[in-house]
Amino acid sequence: MKKITLQQLKVENSFLEFDEQYYDFSTISSLNGAKLASFNKYLAEQLQLDHKNIKDDEIVDILNGKKLLNNSKPYAMVYAGHQFGYFVPQLGDGRAINIGSYDGWHFQLKGSGITKYSRHGDGKAVLRSSIREYLMSEAMYGLGIPTTRALAIISSDHPVYRDMEFEKGAIVLRVSPSWIRIGTFEYFYLKRNRKDLNQLANYVIKQNYPHLIDKEKHKYETLFFEIVDGTANLIAKWMAYGFMHGVMNTDNMSVASVTIDYGPFAFMDRFDAGTICNHTDKEGRYSYENQPLIAQWNLHSLYNAMKPLFEDEEKANEYLQMFMSLYKHYYYELMNKKLGLDSQKSGNSNKKLIQDLLKILQGSQVDYTVFFRRLSSNDDEQILQLCKYKEPMKQWLKEYKNIRDNQGLDFEKIASNMNKINPKYVLKNYILQEAIDKANKDDFSLLNDLLDIAHTPFEEHPNFEHYAQPTPQNVNNLRLSCSS
Ligand code: AMP
Ligand code: MG
Repeated sequence: MKKITLQQLKVENSFLEFDEQYYDFSTISSLNGAKLASFNKYLAEQLQLDHKNIKDDEIVDILNGKKLLNNSKPYAMVYAGHQFGYFVPQLGDGRAINIGSYDGWHFQLKGSGITKYSRHGDGKAVLRSSIREYLMSEAMYGLGIPTTRALAIISSDHPVYRDMEFEKGAIVLRVSPSWIRIGTFEYFYLKRNRKDLNQLANYVIKQNYPHLIDKEKHKYETLFFEIVDGTANLIAKWMAYGFMHGVMNTDNMSVASVTIDYGPFAFMDRFDAGTICNHTDKEGRYSYENQPLIAQWNLHSLYNAMKPLFEDEEKANEYLQMFMSLYKHYYYELMNKKLGLDSQKSGNSNKKLIQDLLKILQGSQVDYTVFFRRLSSNDDEQILQLCKYKEPMKQWLKEYKNIRDNQGLDFEKIASNMNKINPKYVLKNYILQEAIDKANKDDFSLLNDLLDIAHTPFEEHPNFEHYAQPTPQNVNNLRLSCSS
């Protein structure tokens, strides 16, 4: 297939088919002294962009609003949402501007200035949070977790005021199969206009669930089921890899079941199910262990917003009630794989074995990612080194190996499969912070190295062996502020 240049990239603006009350044309505000911090060649390749012949300045100009993509008509979308359980009737893209879609990818600039929906915000984003989103979305992609991605990030000399300090302003060009949120449905529902709500559901079907287009009966119940199922699968992956989103408000939940809106997220360092990664979340509504329940709570909000579309509310409600069993099914399937177990061969889903393990990881303060990676080494000493208390782990290993070795499979084969699901690298917060500190001094080398690691987390990266070690105790499971 022929590669295209940025000039040839002609975008569509399908959301502009909606009534004008659902969006607002916006002007991209440029940052002073903008410079390219990183360009994601992996995503560019996938978009068929001729990235080897694209100049840095051309990319900077697109992100900085100095040039528009062909046919781009920048606009911000309105939505509503439940934030920490409380309904907010109007939110929207307060600092994100949509610049069109290409090949099913919807492009958005984040940090590009005030829109109609900025409320009291400045419409800007700082380099710190922009790097976190840029790298983390690629890391999630590398792990096989559904997510938005980012094509490029610019830094600048533009001062942005946060937490009593000036930081560098930045813009990320992020892409998603959809920017429709549960909160978008909540906003449309609030307008009490069934025709528009119907149009929104049909839009989502066309964009993300095209196999439902011609469905005659229970079309919207089925759409709802698919979102329930997709979300269950997504949250199972978050949990199995130790990812915490941090702000699972309904306006941060995608109806295409991909991870969106990266804020004060974290990967679990030493395992502790009660970990709260968001400093603002005093009560731990969005703690690690609450994520499945909160996802179901959010889907309940979606159910309420979609109600006028259902022929059979009972049926839709049954789908909602299926969330937890779907979630558990996906979660245990993944956890078995992480342990190299074939649950069919071992005759059950090994639930108890897995639950026992989590208790031991927590009690012995074990680094979650490093533990699973070391498990395939079959070297008990290496594993026990990670444990504060060794005896419970010794007992567990005995039981585990009994089940594993009775599967009648070659250990080398099992270990090689385990290394394809248990990453050597996840981008822990302290690692991201090192890249941020350098980038704030205009050194983007670690940012770019981490992009490579994010993209291939199962591979060896010999120069970064230190990042594959347990998280140092002084930076273990830190809470991050929401300010970004
Ligand atoms: P978030 O928690 O980042 O998902 O943001 C919640 C809402 O606040 C969204 O509608 C954002 O667009 C908006 N928002 C966050 N930060 C800013 C900002 N600096 N300027 C304007 N709007 C913002
Ligand atoms: Mg958001």
